[in-house]
Amino acid sequence: MSQLDGQVALITGAAHPAGIGYAIARTLLAAGAAVSIVDLRQEACDAAVRQLSAELSERGQSHVAPLAVAADVRERDALERAVRLTVDQFGRLDVLVSNAGIAQPRKVMDISPEDWSSTLDVNLRGMLNLTQAALPHLSDGGRIVAIASIAAQRGGGLLGGPHYAASKGGVLSLAKSMAREFGPRGIRVNCVNPGVIITAMNANAFDEETRKRLIDSIPLGRFGTPQDVADVCLFLASSQSGYLTGTAIDINGGMHIH
Ligand code: NAD
Repeated sequence: MSQLDGQVALITGAAHPAGIGYAIARTLLAAGAAVSIVDLRQEACDAAVRQLSAELSERGQSHVAPLAVAADVRERDALERAVRLTVDQFGRLDVLVSNAGIAQPRKVMDISPEDWSSTLDVNLRGMLNLTQAALPHLSDGGRIVAIASIAAQRGGGLLGGPHYAASKGGVLSLAKSMAREFGPRGIRVNCVNPGVIITAMNANAFDEETRKRLIDSIPLGRFGTPQDVADVCLFLASSQSGYLTGTAIDINGGMHIH
């Protein structure tokens, strides 16, 4: 019996094979969950589903075939459709992972109104939209996991600008409020704060000198991997974290100890 047998999860921003959302999907699938892959483009979601099935089959891990659904997290209607298709396909919904996010390097005076709106709309409103779309269908005892960031704690400055940091600070606050409100239904809401995790978002963002300086500032001496984040998300999605709600777990190799 695996940790998430019979459970159903929906993960946003999960289509990029090098991304955190994809690693979370692979990990929850391997733990027995049925998973909906939600991302901007249907073709990318379809490709991710094919690749996930191939990867897990290669490892000899039996799994439920994932569902691919295109949705922009800025649009609540699109997420309502994704939730409906998930429940139609798998019969229930237990875990939400709010992972879709964008980051832009900017200084305060360079943030345009469009930069502000797009970053807040995807990173923060996207979490609200997902929750509002899913809550009526989420099982009692369900789990919501939100991907915040070390940027919210230290004031950006790694890749995302101040508006990115503010959006992730909002994610941390929104999650705490949701944890209070949904606790009576047994729904737990927790965040993770990844440090520097090498994905498409930042693969080419640092020159060699910056890379070395950053790694020197990490006690564990390496950048993180999407799997490092996925493993903690599995813990938060499983009953092993059964008495945790309103928390945020740092995944940063010790880069920010507070
Ligand atoms: P990524 O760019 O590889 O993945 C983000 C995914 O979100 C992509 O598949 C993209 O298509 C999708 N997406 C973007 N806008 C969307 C929208 N409007 N609707 C639906 N999907 C959308 O980035 P990643 O590094 O895997 O980031 C995943 C999450 O982790 C983000 O929330 C990011 O802010 C957070 N994070 C990343 C790092 C890091 O170092 N990589 C650190 C801290 C937090």
